[in-house]
Amino acid sequence: MNANATLKELAEVIREADSVLLFPHDNADGDAIGSCVGLCLAIRSLGADCMVLMGEPLPGYIDFLDYGCCTTDIECMKNPDVCLCVDCSGDSRISGRLSRYLEGKKKLCIDHHLTAEGYGELYYIDENEAATAGIIYKLIRKFDDVELSREMRNAIYTGLSTDTGNFRYSNTTAETLRIAADLMEEGIDHNMIIVSAFQNRNIHEIYVQMKVYENMELLMDGRCAVSYITEEMLRECGAEYQHAETAIDCLRDIENVEIAAMLKEKEPGTVKCSLRAKSTGNVVDIASFFGGGGHVKAAGYTFRGTMDDARRTLKEQLERSRDTLQGR
Ligand code: AMP
Ligand code: MN
Ligand code: MN
Repeated sequence: MNANATLKELAEVIREADSVLLFPHDNADGDAIGSCVGLCLAIRSLGADCMVLMGEPLPGYIDFLDYGCCTTDIECMKNPDVCLCVDCSGDSRISGRLSRYLEGKKKLCIDHHLTAEGYGELYYIDENEAATAGIIYKLIRKFDDVELSREMRNAIYTGLSTDTGNFRYSNTTAETLRIAADLMEEGIDHNMIIVSAFQNRNIHEIYVQMKVYENMELLMDGRCAVSYITEEMLRECGAEYQHAETAIDCLRDIENVEIAAMLKEKEPGTVKCSLRAKSTGNVVDIASFFGGGGHVKAAGYTFRGTMDDARRTLKEQLERSRDTLQGR
């Protein structure tokens, strides 16, 4: 835990505000968006103005979560009383929106990343939470007069289920399941969420996955899987960058693979790396080495340089983390 405020204190600051602007991280995922939208609806029910300022439009697989909360319009709110970063480990991950965040009369941060910096005046970072959505659930419960609506429950459930790979990853705790059960008992659109988030692969994404298998290398006796996709390959697949987001799962889910690494060329000279570990591996050290971060079993970084250099330097670092692969 890395916090200079309690959830109760954060709830009080939010309650006193007339306007709140919420910031999910760039390339927002189900947890970032679910957390923001759930909280946005709760804050609106308290009577305040609230919006979620996104870095880009909602990705298709979770666009049902919008509920009239999300915008990419940087001008959407003038001088908010509170600006709150959600599921965002550092202010570099709200790059294009940072100046707006800094305009908040009070600046807050709620997150669950191990490598979160604790920026803003008040921050609450609990790395033991599987998803930021779990923290948001507890925060909303601090508002005695807010009842969770079906939309709020859908949003929070989406955050919990997407950050835990539908409750499969090792970050899932008894408490995560208890919160999910409470939400389900009160009523959520469970089938709609699961189909949208997990059974909804775009055909171009499948072409990307085929390419990922084609480019895959198995290192260290098959304990480590590495692959890559360039911008040109994405174009050949008729795909956009976002269609490469799930490629990492193809690598991790292979028998005996403990560490998976996926390099994706975002634009010429910029390569994003996603890293996953299954049981004993530690990938956050590798990500931190390259200036990124995340969690022990899910981390990432952005590499400035060519794909060839990204592949070479990654493999060198993977070799150094060989010892964490032992003792499966
Ligand atoms: P991804 O592979 O993009 O799904 O990211 C895996 C995990 O690492 C997520 O928890 C991200 O928030 C975190 N992460 C990814 N890229 C970075 C970065 N450049 N800096 C800090 N954390 C990151
Ligand atoms: Mn996230
Ligand atoms: Mn998260």
